[in-house]
Amino acid sequence: MSPTLTDATPLAADPNDGLNVLESRGSTAETFGIPLAVLAELTHRCPLQCPYCSNPVELERASGELSTEEWKKVLSELAEIGVLQIHFSGGEPTARKDLVELVRHATEVGLYTNLITSAVLLTKDKLAALADAGLCHVQISFQGSEADIADRVAGFRNAHAQKIKAAGWARELDLPLTVNAVMHRQNLHQLPDIIQMAVDLDADRLEVANVQYYGWALKNRAALMPTLEQIEETSHIVEDAQVRLKGILTIDYVVPDYYALRPKKCMGGWGRQFFNISPTGKILPCHAAETITGLDFESVRSNHSIAWIWQNSDAFNRYRGTGWMPEPCRSCEFKEVDFGGCRCQAFALTGDAGNTDPACTLSPMHEQIFKTAETEASGDVNRFIYRNFNGGTPEADAQHDA
Ligand code: SF4
Ligand code: SF4
Repeated sequence: MSPTLTDATPLAADPNDGLNVLESRGSTAETFGIPLAVLAELTHRCPLQCPYCSNPVELERASGELSTEEWKKVLSELAEIGVLQIHFSGGEPTARKDLVELVRHATEVGLYTNLITSAVLLTKDKLAALADAGLCHVQISFQGSEADIADRVAGFRNAHAQKIKAAGWARELDLPLTVNAVMHRQNLHQLPDIIQMAVDLDADRLEVANVQYYGWALKNRAALMPTLEQIEETSHIVEDAQVRLKGILTIDYVVPDYYALRPKKCMGGWGRQFFNISPTGKILPCHAAETITGLDFESVRSNHSIAWIWQNSDAFNRYRGTGWMPEPCRSCEFKEVDFGGCRCQAFALTGDAGNTDPACTLSPMHEQIFKTAETEASGDVNRFIYRNFNGGTPEADAQHDA
């Protein structure tokens, strides 16, 4: 039998009624483990084509997306079961015409709202309408510190200039701002300028996010993988900036998996602290979980409540806790620290999501994978395969040489 979130405690209430279960257990997020924050992927549509996009390689079409009324019902249900924050994401969430309506509804049911956006479709009026509807926070992704590289990575002309403008509007509207910078071999040299850019934009927070290699990023790994020297340099730059900018800019940074000794506690542990909802309403333990074949994900369109799916569905329980672990995790002192790392990465690199994440130096596959990474990092593959609904488009020579 699969382990459950609360391994030792059997459910007392009707397991078909998630809310009843919650109430019978005191209805606190801590008791039951309902996450405090949820990611709503409103759409996979996006005008950008980032080669590391964390959306699945098989993107969902607009025709399958949840309707406005379905999303509103989901938001109400989330608030009811104890979720406090909703992150509107995508794809590009501003591609949805009903975004203002959804933000207003989320505000009305008491959720703290964050918009995770590429910002290229935003206008000042649209952002003001979102702020009026109750939007609490904006996170804008940047592909570099200057237009040449940033627009090339995004596969979208003038993207960078548009992002700078939108960040300014966010601050004019007094919206707290996070800058998210996805880093890889072809833009890591810009990190000092990206840090300064975040300060100049009056951001509260900078996320220095290293590419995670599954889905689109795995297709592009040879063009994105940083060298060990780059990573060592990056750690110094970040540590120095964290001290220098204390009280001005918070900088979040995690060493990329392939160069760490231990894997990250991915998603805080599978099915422990996080879920997201896909554009068609599937409830997923991680935004990349659909890359794992052989798992069936329940939908908000099913007859089950969200709380029931979180507690009882096979996809959530398959890798919850520590009972599913093989060696070397099973007898490892860190098993409740990192929960065996990332299931999506284990699947992408070993073909079995039940294996130890090969990013861990104790994994029997670590050495071989690390060597591959090193070889790719020192290779000369620089052209991207752009993310799109056609399964990806190789970067044109002219674009790359520009
Ligand atoms: S990573 Fe890039 S392509 Fe993917 S959703 Fe975000 S902005 Fe769009
Ligand atoms: S063996 Fe497993 S539990 Fe131990 S550090 Fe590696 S991934 Fe974590």
